Amino acid sequence: MRTCVECQQVRPKRELVRVVRSPQGDIGVDEKGKSAGRGAYLCRSRACWDKAVTRERLDHALKTKLTAEDRERLLQYGRQFDDAEAKAASSPQSKGAPGKEKEASATLEG
Ligand SMILES: [Zn+2]
Repeated sequence: MRTCVECQQVRPKRELVRVVRSPQGDIGVDEKGKSAGRGAYLCRSRACWDKAVTRERLDHALKTKLTAEDRERLLQYGRQFDDAEAKAASSPQSKGAPGKEKEASATLEG
C-alpha cells in the first residue's frame, strides 16, 4: 500500500502512479514503479495531479524543485484521468453570484 502525496489516501501500489526523480535529477512518470530514484505516489485522479504539481507538493515529496517543463509535462499526464472530484466540487446547475468564489457548500435545514 502507498499513500498519495496530495490527498493522503492509502491505496494499493498499482492504483497509484509513481513520479520519480532519477539519480541524475530528471523528473519523470514511472509507469512500472521500478525506476531508481526518489519516488512519490499520486492517485489516478486529475485533481490530485493538478494540486500536487501547482502547489509544489511534488517538489516537497521529491525534495527537489520542478522546472516549468516538468510541471507542464506532469499536468499533461494528469489530464488523462477522470476529474470526478473536480466535478463534484462545483455544481454546474447553479449560476450567479458574479465575482464571488464558487462555493459548493449548501445548508439544508429541514
Ligand atoms: Zn490523491
